[in-house]
Amino acid sequence: MKFFSIVCFLIFCSSVAFAQQAPQSIVDAEVPSLLAIYTDVHSHPELSGHEERTAALVAKELRSAGCQVTEHFGTYDDPKLKSYGVIGVMKNGDGPTVLVRTDLDALPVEEETGLPYASKVTAKNDEGKDVHVMHACGHDVHIAAFIGTARALGKLKDQWHGTIVFAAQPAEETGNGARALLKAGLYDRFGKPAFALGFHDKADLQTGHIGVTEGYTSANVDSIDVTVRGVGGHGAYPHKTKDPIVLAAEMINAWQTIASRENNPLDPIVVTVGSIHGGTKRNIIPDEVKMQLTVRTYKKEVRDKALAALDRIARQIAAAAGVPPERAPIVTVRKDEVCPATYNNPELTRRLVAVWKKTLGDENVEIVDPTMGGEDFSEYSLPDHSIPAVNFHFGAVDAAKMADYKQTGKELPSLHSSKFAPVPEPTIRTGVIGMTTAVLDLMK
Ligand SMILES: [Zn+2]
Ligand SMILES: [Zn+2]
Repeated sequence: MKFFSIVCFLIFCSSVAFAQQAPQSIVDAEVPSLLAIYTDVHSHPELSGHEERTAALVAKELRSAGCQVTEHFGTYDDPKLKSYGVIGVMKNGDGPTVLVRTDLDALPVEEETGLPYASKVTAKNDEGKDVHVMHACGHDVHIAAFIGTARALGKLKDQWHGTIVFAAQPAEETGNGARALLKAGLYDRFGKPAFALGFHDKADLQTGHIGVTEGYTSANVDSIDVTVRGVGGHGAYPHKTKDPIVLAAEMINAWQTIASRENNPLDPIVVTVGSIHGGTKRNIIPDEVKMQLTVRTYKKEVRDKALAALDRIARQIAAAAGVPPERAPIVTVRKDEVCPATYNNPELTRRLVAVWKKTLGDENVEIVDPTMGGEDFSEYSLPDHSIPAVNFHFGAVDAAKMADYKQTGKELPSLHSSKFAPVPEPTIRTGVIGMTTAVLDLMK
């Protein structure tokens, strides 16, 4: 009996000594500090391209988590802009390279959450106008979860091998931050990853839940400027003019037939005219009307077809109205405000879903619908999707509010809303556990 209990005691001791620490227990210990980071970043939001303070904080935290850190990384197309990208490299012997990404920037929104740590920050936007600034997309939650992931993986080095590249990316909201990191040679300098992982909080998903989509999860975003040129004149003598306002109205309606008549309905297209300006006075037919459009698609061939149709319809409506060829509409697809569709590699998605189901329980992992929103995480998988990538969601909404939403259909504050307020603790916790367990599985 005595001998048996000694053996049991020895077995117990050795199993404690060799037991692998679970990410959950590390997260438990880190949560108070991560919450402090979260509220600090939340109350000090910075606009896209101006993430100086946020980047410095992330650099400091990555360094103390055991990363080799490079600051001010990134090259924008516009050479006047300074990039605040932060790259932290955590090495642990031979093995695959995995990229883990967070974004850093906030939005020009006046916070109306009423939280004690709500932002009161104002800043000048790129047009020199004073605007309120708020982390209305939850990138502050991403930052806290990203730092938590770095800390956890720094402590779990007995469970993985290889190199983790932690990429803290500026300017997600303007769609040019990821491109700036890649243009500066992210993959040449720090290694081309075998996998790229990103995450985003979700404003209609319960805390504690992970949501993910297999395949396309966010859309190609194209920004198009259209100048409709007519021949101006007196409002009482329309027969002596070519009215660009009437032409613009025809174009706006006809563009909707790109999705409904020219396209396979199984491939979504959104054409939104978000801005239209023309004219100065009731009785003057102006010379031109200016419009700004956003076009959303998934597949490249659908995108190409939609953009070509948009141009063709504009030109031919003008031609049909007798506008001379030299006054044909000018349709410009902007190269600066563009981001490709995010494609979650199906095999990798299924692999991670299995990991999360094991960690969080089957009922806490949801397959969610894709959206026509944009997300420049797409850039990391390269245009040919040759780097398997997954951008997953983690829930930010209290369970009771979520149940009420499902029952009544009363809309919850969406991302970018002045009232969007994730429940910090469980949201950050799920972000850290989701990302940490994903990396551990890919590098075990
Ligand atoms: Zn956003
Ligand atoms: Zn976002």
